[in-house]
Amino acid sequence: MPSELFREAAYFFGDLIQSIKQGVFSQKAAEIVRFRYEKTAGRVGGIWDGSLMENPRFREQLLFDKPYKAVMIRAPREAVIQSFGVPELKPGEVLVRVAYAGVCATDLEIFEGRLGYYKSGIAKYPIVPGHEFSGVIVATGARVTEFAENDPVVVECIQGCGECDSCRNEDAIGCASRSEVGVIGRNGGYAEYMITPARFVHRLPPSLTLKHAILCEPLAVVLKGLRRLGWNASNRMLSRSAVVGGGPIGHLAALTISHQGADVAVFDRNPDRLAYLARRGISVEQDLQKIAAFDTIIEATGDAEALDTVLERSRTGATILLLGLPYARRDFSFESIVSYDKTIIGSVGSTAADFDEALRLLPHIDASAFFECIFPFEEFHQAWNIARSGKHLKVVLEING
Ligand SMILES: [Zn+2]
Ligand SMILES: [Zn+2]
Repeated sequence: MPSELFREAAYFFGDLIQSIKQGVFSQKAAEIVRFRYEKTAGRVGGIWDGSLMENPRFREQLLFDKPYKAVMIRAPREAVIQSFGVPELKPGEVLVRVAYAGVCATDLEIFEGRLGYYKSGIAKYPIVPGHEFSGVIVATGARVTEFAENDPVVVECIQGCGECDSCRNEDAIGCASRSEVGVIGRNGGYAEYMITPARFVHRLPPSLTLKHAILCEPLAVVLKGLRRLGWNASNRMLSRSAVVGGGPIGHLAALTISHQGADVAVFDRNPDRLAYLARRGISVEQDLQKIAAFDTIIEATGDAEALDTVLERSRTGATILLLGLPYARRDFSFESIVSYDKTIIGSVGSTAADFDEALRLLPHIDASAFFECIFPFEEFHQAWNIARSGKHLKVVLEING
């Protein structure tokens, strides 16, 4: 308790100084005193549900008493910056001030109306996109004890109900009532603030910056895929493995395998992407016909033609992990899978355990190639155009960096 009181005192003086800096000291001082008194009284007395319970929205309103901005995709091809009031937190939720958000192909598919979830009706407009983001906790709802103000965090994308059979088996992707941040039913990280249940939040290790932390979500996706290939902490060597596609997912897959000391080759047509990887000692190849030399193939393009070549050219006994989307409908005879003892594994999204693993691994990976193109988030349309051009490995939006 003394350390909590000390922290409350530090926030109290911090808020007063902030109000002086913003020139609102005379209007806000009394409110700041009252808020901090109520919060401290609540902590000391344990009066979580009584009249002195803190209003988590209150502190934000004290100093940031203005609407916040977010990119709202209202309908296909209709995205605008929209203002929101700082929202009321439900018990168990936290308010995150977003620092950086990565632009993902999924964001563009939502904007362009091409994402399967929107076609099938699982997801609906309007939505604030962004599932690859980092930020800082600025307020916690009642009954949130594991996080505090100023904690730097990332947030899981796939958020299961927590109660159905799938969720109990840690398989949130099978949860019919799941949300996916920035995709299905929960507004994402293209915003100054976002709200999430605290149970999907992960604190950053001290060695990881908020900027690099945006790679946590795509790295977790890679780690789940590798796990489904039978790759685990004690058995990390994949025999003769190749990654098809040197985009963000393929790049992270190659860096991860190589970080563990295993050989990996990356196939891509884009010489710039290959050059990045070659500089990190990873073998690179442009001719996909040469895929026949590999036992384990990680397909990360989502491209139907590349998949055709992989299925046809891969050797007897090959295992093929599909990490891309959408592949499209193809005519394909599965006889060749049966006749050549091949294995095909699909994988999508990630779990809490994959996020934890990604947070451990990320500080050890040289991800500098991902941060060559950073836009202020108001220029999201331009950022999307650059992302579409494929010139950069990742386009990043800086929000409260
Ligand atoms: Zn993504
Ligand atoms: Zn569920």
